[in-house]
Amino acid sequence: MSGRADVERVLAAVADGSGNPLVTPAQITAFATEGDWVGIGVSVEPTIDDLRKLQRALMAAHGGTVELRTPMRVYRGGRGFGEGRHVIAVLGGKGGVGKSTIAANLGITLSAMGMTVGLLDGDIHAPDMPHMLGIRPIDRPKRAMRTLFGQGIPLPSRRQRPVVKHGLESWSIGFVTPDGVPPAWTGHLMIAGLLRHLVFDVAWDADVLLIDAPPGTGDEIQAMTRDLPLSGAVFVTTPQDLAQMDAERTLTLLNERGVPVIGMVQNMAALTCPHCGEPIDLFASSERLADAGVPILGRVPFDVQLSVSADQGIPLVLGNPRGPVALEFARIGAAVRKWIRAVGDEA
Ligand code: ADP
Ligand code: MG
Repeated sequence: MSGRADVERVLAAVADGSGNPLVTPAQITAFATEGDWVGIGVSVEPTIDDLRKLQRALMAAHGGTVELRTPMRVYRGGRGFGEGRHVIAVLGGKGGVGKSTIAANLGITLSAMGMTVGLLDGDIHAPDMPHMLGIRPIDRPKRAMRTLFGQGIPLPSRRQRPVVKHGLESWSIGFVTPDGVPPAWTGHLMIAGLLRHLVFDVAWDADVLLIDAPPGTGDEIQAMTRDLPLSGAVFVTTPQDLAQMDAERTLTLLNERGVPVIGMVQNMAALTCPHCGEPIDLFASSERLADAGVPILGRVPFDVQLSVSADQGIPLVLGNPRGPVALEFARIGAAVRKWIRAVGDEA
């Protein structure tokens, strides 16, 4: 199959429960092809199950890669990001609890375990990831973001390549927002569109795309949980009750939207006493999230080295790969990998 007429025929043959085609030829709004890739835009909004049916029918006829774009979604197979590929949000209610730090170190850990990992800086208002990964301004992409905002479906060869650093693919809105300047992206639709572009119009090779999420339950989190194909979420929180209260709000949102929670990382739970080696609790330990049934993936101690290495652009699991923090990340990474393998492509 290569032409639009073939696509129309295949799509028209996929019917809903009452025998009507899910997509009629008149509902096809865009068609693009390059090599063995086909991109199809439609004006209707089928359910994810119906998108899967349509995509499978096209794949059976065509082989290669098929990408369907509806007004609200992009669907490439599996849960949306592609067959066997997963988008995982790293989030927590509060700012400053260590989401970005955990996301960067977890990404490197998963990559060291042999996965192909991407890290998307989803914090539009505080894009810290380039700094944490040591991606200097000179290494950042020069092309303006608006080239990603074109109409229609961008051809694979025209998509922006992510920056590769420390074996991780990464992309940040910070690449195109000068340091110290507030972002111009506001409003739910614009943010939803921007996030979708960052996930689908950047040429990720990653099988696991971690999104470093902003705090709170604002527009970005709303858009992420509603408009992105999240396979799951990793919570980052400190054991403090206040932080967990905020995380609980985010948890409610995830439950409402049907996003599975992989588990939580308790960050800055304790400090190892430099004199006697005993752990010192830094916050009164709250059990709110654990009580809500969220499994604990690991506990990362307060370690000054974590922030020093972040400022040097070398996440600590790389800077000190045999240290206690790296060992804890190995445990967290193994739990995440196990979860990913268990969900596989089940939908
Ligand atoms: P968030 O993304 O949730 O806002 P960050 O990852 O930016 O949080 O972390 C906030 C600050 O705390 C940063 O300066 C970071 O280096 C530091 N930090 C995070 N986790 C730890 C830790 N376990 N030990 C010491 N400092 C940490
Ligand atoms: Mg952050």
